[in-house]
Amino acid sequence: MQRIWSILLVLTLALGCLSLSACGQGDDDDNDASSDDDADDDDTLDDDTGDDDTLDDDTLDDDTGDDDTLDDDTFDPGPATYGWILMDNNRVHVSDVLARAGDLGIDNVHLSHDLIMEIDEINNDDERAELLQSIAQEAHGLGLTVWVWSHEFTDVPFMFCFDPADPIWEERRDAYREALTRIPEIDGVVLMFGSADFEPWYIPCFCQWCADQEPTGNPLLDAINSRPIDRAMMVYEAVAQVVLDEFDKQLRMRTFMHQPLEIHWLGESLRRFPRHELQVMTKDVPQDWQPYYPHDPLIGNVGHRHQIIEMDLGNEYWGRSLILNGQVDYIYYRYAYDRANGARGAAARVERGAERSGSFYGMPVGACRREGRSGR
Ligand SMILES: [Zn+2]
Repeated sequence: MQRIWSILLVLTLALGCLSLSACGQGDDDDNDASSDDDADDDDTLDDDTGDDDTLDDDTLDDDTGDDDTLDDDTFDPGPATYGWILMDNNRVHVSDVLARAGDLGIDNVHLSHDLIMEIDEINNDDERAELLQSIAQEAHGLGLTVWVWSHEFTDVPFMFCFDPADPIWEERRDAYREALTRIPEIDGVVLMFGSADFEPWYIPCFCQWCADQEPTGNPLLDAINSRPIDRAMMVYEAVAQVVLDEFDKQLRMRTFMHQPLEIHWLGESLRRFPRHELQVMTKDVPQDWQPYYPHDPLIGNVGHRHQIIEMDLGNEYWGRSLILNGQVDYIYYRYAYDRANGARGAAARVERGAERSGSFYGMPVGACRREGRSGR
């Protein structure tokens, strides 16, 4: 139901933006100035006056770092890190993967998909919390740091207010507080909007506070009182206050999104967000891993941040490792570009999850041997 609402809104917004740029260049890369909307054609990165949350701003690919106080000489992204993304909740399998990660020089693991997708799962499911804690302890014993994935927003009311005084913000902070208290072994949180129940830009609110925000110029965004870039930064800040400030953990924004407009909003929010401790994880390609996609436009384009690349060695789109398909040259091609553009490491999926067979090592024999799972 929620996805349907989001998809309808995306379609509606896209139609609205098309109409806004109807006299423009028929662009498909959402970074051209729209000639028929002169309200904010002259905006720049450093004059964030609240008028450029729409398609017609021109900041997508010209980030020069002037949106913050650091320059290229002073920002230190820190050492590169290399991790594996685990998606299968079979405990025996997890131990197997952790041991191999330690042996192969991997320094961190992400717990995701069948293991955890929302931070609230730690708070609402004791059995899962115990599973995740035992995995984190085992990983630490192998010298691996541990990240958990978290979609925002999930399990929230269909409509809520973006007024910072609204109780929803403290509720979300409490969710992170409780989870990190329950499992202190968690070293970092990977935050994301894509595929959440409600992505922040599509949540309507008609209260006076939201209505009083400066309009974006996009009639459809304004109809639901949404300022997408500001909203994204509000979520970063709320989660950072707990994860970074209160618990001294790490926080990384995952940039996977479905629509060009959403990629634009997300990228702009990251370029503007003033806290550089917020790291970024970006897929090597936009959306899912189609091998003929261009490089992801957010690589090297998120302001001064430690950015890593999310890769798929689990081969979701080319046989889930059931077909011999090493792609060494392809992976090298992708990461060579990423590293040249500032990437500081990678995290790679090594499987597709418990019910989706496919693991990047020991295949196909390993998958058949594992709990007799042949054919799944
Ligand atoms: Zn409101």
